[in-house]
Amino acid sequence: MSDAAGGVSGDKIWLDGGFVDWDDANVHILTHTLHYGLGVFEGIRCYRTDDGRSAVFRLPEHVKRLYDSAHINLLEIPFPRDRVQNAVLETLRANRLEEGYIRPLVFIGDGAMGLHPGDNPIRVAVIAWPWGKYLGEEGMERGIRAKVSTFARHFVNAKMTKGKTCGDYVNSILAKREALLDGYDEAILLDTQGLVSEASGENVFLVKGGVIHTPPLTTVLDGITRDTAIELARDKGIDVVERSITRDELYIADEIFLTGTAAEVTPIREVDHRQIGEGSRGPITHTLQTAFFDVVSGRDAKYERWLTTV
Ligand SMILES: *Cc1c(COP(=O)(O)O)cnc(C)c1O
Repeated sequence: MSDAAGGVSGDKIWLDGGFVDWDDANVHILTHTLHYGLGVFEGIRCYRTDDGRSAVFRLPEHVKRLYDSAHINLLEIPFPRDRVQNAVLETLRANRLEEGYIRPLVFIGDGAMGLHPGDNPIRVAVIAWPWGKYLGEEGMERGIRAKVSTFARHFVNAKMTKGKTCGDYVNSILAKREALLDGYDEAILLDTQGLVSEASGENVFLVKGGVIHTPPLTTVLDGITRDTAIELARDKGIDVVERSITRDELYIADEIFLTGTAAEVTPIREVDHRQIGEGSRGPITHTLQTAFFDVVSGRDAKYERWLTTV
């Protein structure tokens, strides 16, 4: 997904109910999802807390969304939810990972080759690997440069925006590669009406006059980090408004930041060659970033409920 993810490796992968060696976690070339993209996944992070634990951030919410994504796509996951939730913890332990990124993946196995998957098996994998800052350490402090993509976010009735569906990420990859080839760090996509939607794999927020604004859930993924940022902001007495946002509102925002499990809370310092605010991480972004890392590091007792100890 990014340069930082180049060549991940590990020891064990949870596949269809048990562990296999990393190098043996292979599938047949006729795997249905490989051809047509109907599969769903999650991205989850585990953090090392200040008191020396390993804690998965908002694990039940991520597993719930995995099942919701599958439900939206008429995929029946052949395991109860708690089994997959436990598999996440077991995979971290099996790979002796104190912190890292966890990728549950639900896909359609081989068998029928038509678009209708027939009774091909629904398969489940859980993979975990170490993963640093998705948009770079420097980006977290200085802010990154973003481009409004020439690719629109899918129309809501062309793909289902509430699922993390494998094939939908063709749209994200087109936008991400365009942004990188054009010398930017990330892409912001507009919806088919021309309103700000989200980044290739992150939700978008802007700050104007001390108030945080973010697009409503209509065309965007219901990000768990988005929800976290909204709750942490309101907790600090900062107003958050969900409303339609136009492209030029981004240009004249005081601050812009992205949220996502991979990107965490990442400031944006420039959009389409327009400097945003002071051209560096803004104060509200910094406040939320600090609050976020306090929570995931177990420094904020109030949000201990969001941590599942491995
Ligand atoms: C995963 C994702 C996000 C962020 O969701 P989180 O739950 O915060 O990780 C936002 N947008 C898209 C398109 C995504 O795939």
